[in-house]
Amino acid sequence: MSNTENTPAANFIRQIIAQDLSAKKHSQVITRFPPEPNGFLHIGHAKSICLNFGVATENKGLCNLRFDDTNPEKESMEYALAIEKDVAWLGFEWAELKHSSDYFEPLYLFAVQLIEKGLAYVDSLSADEIRAYRGSLTEAGKESPDRNRSIADNLDLFARMRAGEFDEGSYLLRAKIDMASPNMNMRDPALYRIRKISHQRTGDDWCIYPMYDYTHCISDALEGITHSLCTLEFADHRPLYDWVLDNIEIDCHPQQIEFARLSLEYTIVSKRKLNKLVVEGHVSGWDDPRMPTIAGLRRAGYTPKAIRDFCERIGVTKKDASIEVAVLENCIREDLNETAGRAMAVLDPVKVTIENYPDAQVEELSMAKHPQNEAMGQRIVPFSKVVYIDQDDFADVPPPKYKRLIEGGEVRLRGAYVIKCHEVIKDDAGKIIELRCTYDENTLGKKPEGRKVKGVIHWVSAEHAIDAEVRLYDRLFNVANPGAEDDFTAALNPNSLEVITHAKVEASLAKAELGERFQFERVGYFCLDHNKNNQFVFNRTVTLRDAWTV
Ligand code: ATP
Ligand code: MG
Repeated sequence: MSNTENTPAANFIRQIIAQDLSAKKHSQVITRFPPEPNGFLHIGHAKSICLNFGVATENKGLCNLRFDDTNPEKESMEYALAIEKDVAWLGFEWAELKHSSDYFEPLYLFAVQLIEKGLAYVDSLSADEIRAYRGSLTEAGKESPDRNRSIADNLDLFARMRAGEFDEGSYLLRAKIDMASPNMNMRDPALYRIRKISHQRTGDDWCIYPMYDYTHCISDALEGITHSLCTLEFADHRPLYDWVLDNIEIDCHPQQIEFARLSLEYTIVSKRKLNKLVVEGHVSGWDDPRMPTIAGLRRAGYTPKAIRDFCERIGVTKKDASIEVAVLENCIREDLNETAGRAMAVLDPVKVTIENYPDAQVEELSMAKHPQNEAMGQRIVPFSKVVYIDQDDFADVPPPKYKRLIEGGEVRLRGAYVIKCHEVIKDDAGKIIELRCTYDENTLGKKPEGRKVKGVIHWVSAEHAIDAEVRLYDRLFNVANPGAEDDFTAALNPNSLEVITHAKVEASLAKAELGERFQFERVGYFCLDHNKNNQFVFNRTVTLRDAWTV
């Protein structure tokens, strides 16, 4: 069923929410999507966005966009703006735009509460010592000598940490939980560290920054989040999430529910690794059409609908699985098959002279923009004495059952006439430079008399065609799971981009808008990337069929 947008599939999270609502546990569902602004969003984030905004919308609830911005050295406003743009482009509206940094003051006060209750302490162990004291999965940790510091001393030291009296790394605020816990996250986790760097929003107001686990649960509670949906790796952090909220004075306790991360074959979904591809120049930027980022997919020609369909189709479960690229590609193919205008483009042109066609004649042929969708209207495709066809559509030595053009054979030019090839002209190197043909003037919109012509090929009028650059994108990696490689850049596909500089596209494309999507008939789906100085560049979104599985 492709009508997934109206009838969302049941999943365990939707079930929990439905039960909570029918039990009147909450009057309204409130969720949030909490990205860290340290890179662009990728297709994995789209899964989380569709889930968080989706369950809120379905239940007439709200979803906030909250930047988890507690790590200023890696974060930036530029990333935050790109994230806002991508969430909106996917078709979602946040109830409120929030930042963890909005809560720096309450977070600080809650930490003071924990200290006052004897549940947090300032530790002066070095990072190396803390690691050594932490123990291992098989061995209990060791308590820090500072663990029994007095409450008064802890309050004093924490205030002075905030005031900037100490160097980075000299002190840490830690929760006092259990150094023997089998869950390493509960072995007196860090709550605050000293970082003497400016924050993109709070400037130099703070030189201590709260840790993710501590910040996240409190931010959720302050926003009245009912269901805090996150990926499976946070399951082991849930006891800490609950511990913090149980031990501070706050009357909201969101329920954390974990679901499986999305991974997609032949690519990578990790901002850190994608950043490496950008920084090392393996791609042209975060929005390179080969990147699995929302911005990259958009530039490749993906639609928000196709991405939302994909997220719905893969479902939400508790089991990690790597999704085949074909699943994503089929979503965009289905969408573009219905919505993209048709056009003709010749990527590897060879000149065809129709010798018996009147020299100066030009016929303006009217063709449907879409074979099923009449509302899209017609386009004018000029026909003249010299046209281009694709090298691929002529064979000197035809393979068996070849239906396209051969010397002495006939073929139909799509939407126009049947032509017959009489002579093949080659250059000194043996490359075909021209095909001399004749046309049958009684075949426009009519079958030829007394014979069958099976092949139909696309073409453009030489005099009217527009020169274009066409970029053929392929998988970024050669292996299904590049993330598992020691050096994932070694698995990059060296042929992931083929640039065709001398393509010829039909004249109607002169009016194409930036980002407009087309089916180049018999070739694939493309979108107009830019037309700087009248130099058109089309990006291939996806091939017409899945070339990898045939
Ligand atoms: P990355 O490793 O790419 O930086 P992250 O989880 O650190 O991912 P965040 O910006 O913290 O990135 O993620 C925001 C939200 O998106 C989180 O709730 C996270 O669980 C979710 N998310 C991130 N990656 C995926 C994924 N591959 N599949 C589903 N959800 C994801
Ligand atoms: Mg993160």
